[in-house]
Amino acid sequence: MYRSHTCGELRHAHINQTVTLAGWVQKVRDKGFMIWIDLRDRYGITQLILDEERTPKAVFDLAKTLGREFVIQVEGTVIERESKNKNIPTGDIEIMVSGLTVLNSADLPPFTIEDQTDGGEDLRMKYRYLDIRRNPVKDKLMFRHRVAMEVRNYLSQQGFIEVETPYLIKSTPEGARDFVVPSRMNEGQFYALPQSPQTFKQLLMVGGMDRYFQIVKCFRDEDLRADRQPEFTQIDCEMTFVEQEDILNIFEALTKHLLKTIKGVEVDNFPRISYAEAMQKYGNDKPDIRFGMEFGELNTLAKGKGFNVFDAQELIVGIAVPGAAEYTRKQIDALIDWVKRPQIGANGLVWVKYNTDGSFKSSVDKFYNSDDLFAWAEATGSKPGDLILVMAGDAHKTRTQLSTVRMEMAERLGLRKPEEFAPLWVVDFPLLEWDEETQRYHAMHHPFTSPKPEDIPLLETDPGNARANAYDLVLNGNEIGGGSIRIHNSELQSKMFKLLGFTHEQAEAQFGFLMNAFKYGAPPHAGIAFGFDRLVAILGGQESIRDFIAFPKNNSGRDVMINAPAPIDDEQLEELKLKLNL
Ligand code: ASP
Repeated sequence: MYRSHTCGELRHAHINQTVTLAGWVQKVRDKGFMIWIDLRDRYGITQLILDEERTPKAVFDLAKTLGREFVIQVEGTVIERESKNKNIPTGDIEIMVSGLTVLNSADLPPFTIEDQTDGGEDLRMKYRYLDIRRNPVKDKLMFRHRVAMEVRNYLSQQGFIEVETPYLIKSTPEGARDFVVPSRMNEGQFYALPQSPQTFKQLLMVGGMDRYFQIVKCFRDEDLRADRQPEFTQIDCEMTFVEQEDILNIFEALTKHLLKTIKGVEVDNFPRISYAEAMQKYGNDKPDIRFGMEFGELNTLAKGKGFNVFDAQELIVGIAVPGAAEYTRKQIDALIDWVKRPQIGANGLVWVKYNTDGSFKSSVDKFYNSDDLFAWAEATGSKPGDLILVMAGDAHKTRTQLSTVRMEMAERLGLRKPEEFAPLWVVDFPLLEWDEETQRYHAMHHPFTSPKPEDIPLLETDPGNARANAYDLVLNGNEIGGGSIRIHNSELQSKMFKLLGFTHEQAEAQFGFLMNAFKYGAPPHAGIAFGFDRLVAILGGQESIRDFIAFPKNNSGRDVMINAPAPIDDEQLEELKLKLNL
């Protein structure tokens, strides 16, 4: 028996018991005649004590040779501690050691295994197994497990069955590139790793599974933006005989359940807004609604007053930044420089201070009097003491730019509070997106998404304006879930592929299995997938998903610990018939 208790377990009630513990040496304090050791495992830290008089000499001498992160086993008696440590649950007791076995020695770790470590990000990634010994990382992995268990239990109770779908498949289009795996047994042929189990979960519905879920790895070969992982985890779900309303209700209930059990937070029914409204009010299809700053359109108020810059623009739109009328000229100039950076690419920013005394001061005082500016204040919902920021230009671009400003100002003002949760549904997404580069339509969600029935005629006449039966679940400015009602009719599905620029042969070759399946009694079905890593991070009150993943990849998609990806040897290449004859 390696241990009778864990290092987080012993309390006052255990005093006088003989126990055996095993763990890592966190710290040794050697006072010569007395040695204290902090022994650590996943469950906590227990203090060990050895003294020259009471501890057998061989044990005492061996303790003197211990270094940080040695793995040891000790036997001893639980005694009451003289100076109690209120900060840890085991702080009332310590172990008077009578036996010590060194199970393994350890090299000096490259950084300190403490909550506050001296190790930089790169070093900690390289030695991730040591980082996992630290509470901040370990606790996040345990937190992730808790969320996963809640999800599994909740969905199982609702009649969902977890079914595993294969990883070695053929391309599923979710808008990214596939990772591919060469097949040794089928020369020149490749599997693709799933970007999601989309087609399989639909086939499970054709198979009559009715309610499916899976906590599943997905793989997307994208240019990595900050905080994206090439492999990530979804809570993937699909249901039969449901309408949008059913899906929204069930997954709203799941989200509420998680907020309540994990965070102790009760939220009201989630607001639902259309994509069009989200863009108009927030310039963003995943708005953070924890704070106001809704867009106010100023076209009719700001045009025709002699300010040429505005007259020619498609859209003039502003937000009221609460309490920011006190911004200095220097701060405002810095903000203007910030929006002009290529990342945002705005031409500039018009500002209006709505002073607390009710007066106005603006960068366009030459063109607008205080009545005009008062009307702007009303349109943007501005109160005295606010700073109104106005942008103008091409409608879509300007909204997107102002959205970035809105988020930045909210961040600066501390309005994005991690412990406040404001979920909402965004519905009625456009079905298609025009891609300038390839000069064709892309599915905004994916090609299996059903158009709104009333918009089906638009597929012939004006496809760009057709709306999809698709929805996103947004939490605190992040898309945490997205899904749609699916097409379950093989004709409509072929029409959709055609619209997306597939020839009949291409569609047949790539998705023939699905269209064929639809011929054998495909039921109406719909589903959703949650980004599990992101959901866990948000529930954990953090922005970054990386610490919630045991072995994440860095920004170049590398695992720096195992050093992957890596070349493979010639023999392997030959076997796979991948050796290039240069
Ligand atoms: N497969 C979709 C995705 O990964 C989710 C869904 O439509 O259920 O975004």
